[in-house]
Amino acid sequence: MSADSRRVEVHPGKEAVVEFDPSLTFECVDDCTWCCHHGVLLYEPDLLELADCANLAETTTSFRGEDFVRQEHKDREDHVDENGQACFFLRDDGLCSLHAESDWKPTRCSVFPLAVTVEDGDIHVDVRESAHEHCEGLDVSERRVVEHLDAFLPAVLWDLDDPETRREL
Ligand code: SF4
Ligand code: SF4
Repeated sequence: MSADSRRVEVHPGKEAVVEFDPSLTFECVDDCTWCCHHGVLLYEPDLLELADCANLAETTTSFRGEDFVRQEHKDREDHVDENGQACFFLRDDGLCSLHAESDWKPTRCSVFPLAVTVEDGDIHVDVRESAHEHCEGLDVSERRVVEHLDAFLPAVLWDLDDPETRREL
């Protein structure tokens, strides 16, 4: 553990080692949507919850034995990948249809712009490297991330075999 990191109880009995500067603030910026052009990995509990909001056959795909939200072509120029694609649930108005219509989103979308790694069995949390460059919501508000970690790190992360966030479609 580095000298700057510290252990925070995120949910009762579930701790994370915080690696980012505790003064970091975050507020998602309307219309940014940068993080919505990746394929989102779905954990098994996510799949079960997504089944209540959407047709899994239409909205998800499998890759190397793991499940992801499908990407589809979007009629927009920014925040799409090199093939013009973004997350199936990204609406034309820049909102997430799952979040806007069902008040739910996949675990991985809650974690962004943070990244989870595991060291010696402990969950470590830091700012995702790509977010420093692309996420417009860092340090633009008064909302300190370290005080709201339960919103970024759903409790299910502590129950997963591999909660690390490095895998993408
Ligand atoms: S599910 Fe919603 S929040 Fe997650 S990447 Fe897709 S549009 Fe963005
Ligand atoms: S990149 Fe950051 S500011 Fe942009 S939509 Fe994602 S979380 Fe919000």
